[in-house]
Amino acid sequence: MLAASLRSPGALTLEKRPIPALGPQDALLAVEATTLCGTDLRIATGQKTNGVTPGVVLGHEIAARVWRIGDELTAGVDVPAPGTQVGLAPEIACGHCDACVSGRSNVCARMRLFGTGVDGGLADFILVPQEALGCITPVARKITPPLLALAEPLSCCLRATRRLPIGPDSRVLVLGTGPIGLIHCALAAFAGARVMACGRAARLEPARTMGAETTTTSQGDDLVANVQEWTGGVGADVVIIAVGDPGLVPVAIQCARIGGHVSFFAGFPAGATAQVDPNLVHYRELTLSGSANATLDDYASAVDMLSTGSIDLSQLLTHEFALSDVSSALDAVRTRAGLKIAVRPDGMVGR
Ligand SMILES: [Zn+2]
Ligand SMILES: [Zn+2]
Repeated sequence: MLAASLRSPGALTLEKRPIPALGPQDALLAVEATTLCGTDLRIATGQKTNGVTPGVVLGHEIAARVWRIGDELTAGVDVPAPGTQVGLAPEIACGHCDACVSGRSNVCARMRLFGTGVDGGLADFILVPQEALGCITPVARKITPPLLALAEPLSCCLRATRRLPIGPDSRVLVLGTGPIGLIHCALAAFAGARVMACGRAARLEPARTMGAETTTTSQGDDLVANVQEWTGGVGADVVIIAVGDPGLVPVAIQCARIGGHVSFFAGFPAGATAQVDPNLVHYRELTLSGSANATLDDYASAVDMLSTGSIDLSQLLTHEFALSDVSSALDAVRTRAGLKIAVRPDGMVGR
């Protein structure tokens, strides 16, 4: 089979490999689409090395079909039957650490991830070892594989928004209009909220199509003034930081209303610091919350929302590349040529 593996940091290599050997309690999936994100680019270029296994196959936003299951497994009980369309949650949590037992398996201390520590979706086939069978998530209704791959970023966004008071007529400010910011726009709009998106000029139109009622490119004090105007001087109920710029933190806090919530959704560069006015948090009774990755429940909800059509993220899918052309796909991520870039096994492109 064809696989894009990281031979050494910065050297993503397309290679022929044997199809992984199936153990009696493993499942083998045929990959149908893997979408890329900035994390893949950081791993491929060697900027991110933490938790990355040498030689690993990249790709963690995975849509597939069950191909074969181990002799000791029962189709439909232990795993979906061969032929079933499935998403694969990338988080393999240990199930025993403090985070796992307290319901936060998404931040498991011994987390292993498909596409980082364990071979991921940039290949024709992917082996799901016994301990990760729970990551295999069947669809409610068949959808296009690239759309199903978006269950992963959607699951992370769901994880964050479950703890935020986003509902009819609440005002949500989304900082950042990359694919993640746009998914947050869509989710908030889906919940009935009114959304302001703040980001680069080229992304404001997509933000509006994804549900933002208003958009801005302004920064700093200008942004705070914009938000005040938009909210009649009250401030936003919820501010979501969807881009890893620590400089946004003090602005986000100033944009929140009394009793408001600020979500630190994005990951920030290692060692980043931000200066905030602690009295704003104190006198406005703000709630600051963090979020990273997703639980299997979040992932299952995301697959469900996409496969039942309750949320439509298809506008995010702008490019599709064959696996044999994976380097062009990564270039498209690097140059921000589009929104979400899908890589598909050769012969599946456009199907
Ligand atoms: Zn991703
Ligand atoms: Zn754990």
